[in-house]
Amino acid sequence: MKRRALISVFYKDGILDLASGLAGSGWEILSTGGTARYLQENGIAVTDVSSVTGFPECLDGRVKTLHPAIHAGLLARRDDAKHMETLEGLNLSAIDLVCVNLYPFFEKVQAGLSIEETVEFIDIGGPTMLRSAAKNYRDVIVLTDPGDYADALVAVKTGTVPPEFKKRLAGKVFDLTSAYDAAIARYLLDESFPEYWPMSLKKSQTLRYGENSHQEAALYFSTDKPGALPAMEQLHGKELSYNNIRDLDLAWKAVCANGLPADGTLPMGTGELALVPGMETPRDVPVCCVAVKHNTPCGIALGKNLSEAYDKTYICDPVSIYGGIVACNTPVDEAAAEKMAEIFLEIIAAPDFTPGALEILKKKKNIRLMKAAAAPKDSFECIAVDGGLLVQSADRTLLEKWEVVTRTAPEERDIPDMVFGIRTVGFVKSNAIVVVKESAAVGIGGGQTNRIWAAEQALGRSAGVIAAAKENGSGDGSPPRVLASDAFFPFPDVVEAAAAAGIKAIIQPGGSMNDKLSIEACDRLGIAMVFTGTRHFKH
Ligand code: 5GP
Repeated sequence: MKRRALISVFYKDGILDLASGLAGSGWEILSTGGTARYLQENGIAVTDVSSVTGFPECLDGRVKTLHPAIHAGLLARRDDAKHMETLEGLNLSAIDLVCVNLYPFFEKVQAGLSIEETVEFIDIGGPTMLRSAAKNYRDVIVLTDPGDYADALVAVKTGTVPPEFKKRLAGKVFDLTSAYDAAIARYLLDESFPEYWPMSLKKSQTLRYGENSHQEAALYFSTDKPGALPAMEQLHGKELSYNNIRDLDLAWKAVCANGLPADGTLPMGTGELALVPGMETPRDVPVCCVAVKHNTPCGIALGKNLSEAYDKTYICDPVSIYGGIVACNTPVDEAAAEKMAEIFLEIIAAPDFTPGALEILKKKKNIRLMKAAAAPKDSFECIAVDGGLLVQSADRTLLEKWEVVTRTAPEERDIPDMVFGIRTVGFVKSNAIVVVKESAAVGIGGGQTNRIWAAEQALGRSAGVIAAAKENGSGDGSPPRVLASDAFFPFPDVVEAAAAAGIKAIIQPGGSMNDKLSIEACDRLGIAMVFTGTRHFKH
């Protein structure tokens, strides 16, 4: 009996070789409107599906293959005599191969079309055919990926199509249709947290390994929600690793939280700064540089230019920055590149690199240079737990209030550093304390299981950083003035440690049962304290 293939594709790539190969092996080719025309124009004989269904394509193509003549042909089990008798009785024939690619909903959903236009890109007949064929995979070869066309043709020509191959092709169908449906669900549902969490992610890269070399890993990007990472262009260096990607993500988020002039992104919380005295009017976006190691910043600073911001970032922790990831919100110029080239960095991410900077940095074989065009988008954060996912919206609220809780208010000169501190502390692993001096973190204490250790770490480090800056002539040796905390103080011990280090202003969310004790300690020790009402845990 003559074998039959049904080809119905939106993108026609690779289809001529497949169809002519099948036709050359004696197969009959069935096809839908546009695909049939394309094949015929290229000299391949086709049978129009309408002549199989006895029904015209209608409703602007909404109904083409949705017909029992097609689906019975796909779903009939060849080793089931009754199924085959039924087909014969209905004067229908089996279909042995289906090749479909779907209306490009993934792409169109990003294209800013109206809902009416977008809905037209929801393919109904294509997934239906794919699902029928995939259910009956033992008897039907089902192709969704042009990368499989050649193997399928070889298998057909040799007359043996390995069962494992057919099963894999069927699996690919449900992989695709479930992601396709998830993208549609995400598009149509208004709820932030729907009943089933729809994931529509496509593999971008198989990674060499995961966090450790014995762990397998891959990178997936959203099919319908463009983000900052897929938009990055690698200009130089080896493939990114799993740990690189995580650290790059954090570094880019931390730097863009201070604004990305290239795409007009203002610093995080710009609107909320209306609550902050002296900061009500948005200021110019400052140059920001951050260094990240083991998924936590080891230095972050603002500066007049990148060289200054980088120097301040570097001096915050000249030990940890080695082998770290540096990101900045302004193009890397030659002067900054010279400085960055002095140590081993895994990655530099920036909106651009001047030709001179590229020349300097490309001499280093092991550095990866990422041109990063877009700021991270507001999106969801997911963490895998055994048997599921924890999903939350991204932490995009900087502060809900600016409540001076002490007798004295912060000095005007400390307010920008307090804002910078509270913005930074949300990127440091909890418990987190950041000590700030002149628009730069000079002590970062993070990942501690109690707050006083984080404070002691940050304050202790700041003493060394300030001494080093004095020694190299970039600082005056005066103590740091600002301390920011990601969560409230359960005891007054952090205030006491801060006072001993010379801190004059503290910013923290507040909300502890023991707030009173910390406020009293501030008043006693001459520190101004502000409560923001917004916690920034990051575990
Ligand atoms: P063609 O260019 O051949 O006219 O259309 C090919 C596209 O139509 C493919 O993307 C295929 O998934 C889709 N398709 C096939 N059958 C149907 C159907 O019955 N309804 C709809 N809406 N799309 C179909």
